[in-house]
Parts: sequence; structure tokens; C-alpha cells
Amino acid sequence: MNARPAPRRCLVTGANRGIGLEFVRQLLARGDRVVAACRRPARAHALNQLAGEHPGRLHVLPLDVAEPKSHAELARELPLALDGLDLLINNAGVLHSGERFGQVPIAHLDDSLRVNASGPFLLTQTLAPLLASGAVVANLSSELGSIASAAGFHTPSYAISKAAQNMATALLARALAERGVAVLALHPGWVQTDMGGAGAQVAPADAVRGLLRVLDAATVADSGRFLDWRGRAVPW
Ligand code: NDP
Repeated sequence: MNARPAPRRCLVTGANRGIGLEFVRQLLARGDRVVAACRRPARAHALNQLAGEHPGRLHVLPLDVAEPKSHAELARELPLALDGLDLLINNAGVLHSGERFGQVPIAHLDDSLRVNASGPFLLTQTLAPLLASGAVVANLSSELGSIASAAGFHTPSYAISKAAQNMATALLARALAERGVAVLALHPGWVQTDMGGAGAQVAPADAVRGLLRVLDAATVADSGRFLDWRGRAVPW
């Protein structure tokens, strides 16, 4: 069980829509304090409305996870909103669809690796001094990044970047273990968001409820595990 009781101090990246926005909603509903990070806060209407409804408990700050300079700016601003972090949710992600073998452009691979793998790794490294003992870092991965489950030639730039993110999770788990910080790779299910697209089966509210249950139950003994929204282990 996450040792630290509510209100927890939380940071969610890519918080302006999809799964990230739903994390913010549910964390606020249970009384936590949240920094919601997104690329363009001025255009994040849903977040700004939530900030008005939860004065002092939600701060919306700029972050482009692909830009280390932006990580450093967030690290400078974050202590003005929260005096530490109990939960870091590396949620921001990108998926380039329509890729076919023989025609996968390097731009897709570069962008996917930067946003999905380097981003969470470097941001966690930058924010590590702010993580409290007992904190949890959640990296939103995907079963598409599971090498053991690979079937067919689907979304290669995304799959490669999530597999790289999984290694980042394993290494961060080791680096942060002595600080009592757990780091998990999480598969949210196939979720009804812009990324999930047509055919997605899981409502964002259900996915996030499940993921928060998994995170609340996580101890440092679980660090480095790859779990889905129902708490089941996903093969690496
Ligand atoms: P969406 O496409 O709906 O939202 C993606 C979010 O990431 C947006 O807020 C977007 O911001 C943000 N983002 C993208 N690039 C950057 C960047 N460079 N810096 C900061 N923010 C960025 O995706 P989902 O909500 O569905 O996915 C959330 C996470 O869950 C992702 O990591 C995804 O890979 C993972 N996941 C999702 C699944 C699904 O079925 N939906 C399945 C498995 C995993 P902006 O609005 O500015 O573009």
C-alpha cells in the first residue's frame, strides 16, 4: 500500500485530454493536490475549468516532455505549487498511425522515442530530488511495447518506443529503490481516447479507476513490475 495517505501530491503529464485528464479528475475527486502539466496551458480549457472548481488544489503548468529545457523549467516552478511529490504519472504519449513496413520514417521513430521513452526517463531523473520516500512513479506503457506479446507489424515506432520506455522503467526502479520510490510500467487497456480511436473498449474513467487501485496498492517491492489496469502482470 502506498504509505502516504491523502492528500497526496501528484504530477500528471499530458494532462489536458484523454487518460491524463481523467487522472486529474479522479485525483482531485479523492482530495489529492495535483499539478497538471501540458504543452499549452492557455488552451487547456477542461483543466482551467477544474482549477477554478478546486482553488489551490490544482495548478496547471507548461511541459513539453520532448524538451529537456521544459523539464528544467517545470522543476523550478513545481516547488511553488507542491513541496514534494508522492505520485508522478508519466502519461504524455504519442502514436503515429498508418505505418507500413518499408515506409516507416525516421521522423516517427525519433519523435516517438523522444516523447514516449526519453521523456519519462529524463523527466523522472530531473524530478527525482522532489520524490518523497514511499512515492510512486507510474509510466504509462502499452502491451504494444511488450516484446513477448509482439504479433504482426503494428505501430512500429510506437511499439519500439514503449519497449524502450519499459527498459527505462526497469532502470529507474533500480536507481530509485534505495530512496523507497516504486517505479511501475502500466498498460491502461485499450481506452476510448483520441489515441485509442475506433474500437477502443475501456472508458477512461474505468481505466483510471483501475490504474489508481494498482498504484494505491503498490509498494517498493512491486517496483519494476509491468501491470495492466486490472492489476494483472503484462509479459515484458
Ligand atoms: P491521447 O492521444 O488522447 O493524449 C495524449 C496526451 O499526451 C495529450 O495530452 C498530448 O498533449 C500529450 N502529449 C503528446 N506529446 C506531448 C509532449 N511532447 N509533451 C507533453 N505532452 C504531450 O492519448 P491517451 O490519453 O490515450 O494516452 C495516454 C497514455 O496512455 C499514453 O502514454 C499512451 O501511449 C498510453 N496508452 C494509451 C492506450 C489507449 O488505448 N488509449 C493504450 C495503451 C497505452 P497535446 O494535447 O498537446 O497533443
